[in-house]
Amino acid sequence: MNILLNILIVTITFFFMEFVAWFTHKYVMHGFMWFLHRDHHEPHDSFLEKNDWFAFMFAIPSALLWYLGVAHDNDLMFYIGIGIAIYGVAYFLVHDVIVHQRVKILRNWNNPYVRAIRRAHKIHHKKLAKEGAESFGFVIVPKKYWEKKTSSLL
Ligand SMILES: [Zn+2]
Ligand SMILES: [Zn+2]
Ligand SMILES: [Zn+2]
Repeated sequence: MNILLNILIVTITFFFMEFVAWFTHKYVMHGFMWFLHRDHHEPHDSFLEKNDWFAFMFAIPSALLWYLGVAHDNDLMFYIGIGIAIYGVAYFLVHDVIVHQRVKILRNWNNPYVRAIRRAHKIHHKKLAKEGAESFGFVIVPKKYWEKKTSSLL
């Protein structure tokens, strides 16, 4: 299969995963699986959260597709698995490292995108309860959380 097609599969999978993550966050994590997401919205000192189970759950289809892709020599499965894995890494970097600073690196990283994701996710965390939260996305930041052009001129 040609390399451009493989890159396309990975790219589509990546953006589709942002949709899956957004949907899961809004309707599952803040829905019937709130019991696993709850500790992420409450103040905590422990490094690990029950919420981390979601990362584990998302890793399963990725590993499975990756494995099946190799076992059956199926490029589609393999590259979808790769796309999910790359999304997982991006999610971890954005949500756990850049926003929540669970790992003490990139703390002083500062650019318009980083400011926008921090702002958007902080608004999500303003709510300590299951209901009423907004901004459920992770890697893609809606326009309204980006600074207005004028403020960057100051
Ligand atoms: Zn949440
Ligand atoms: Zn947390
Ligand atoms: Zn968070």
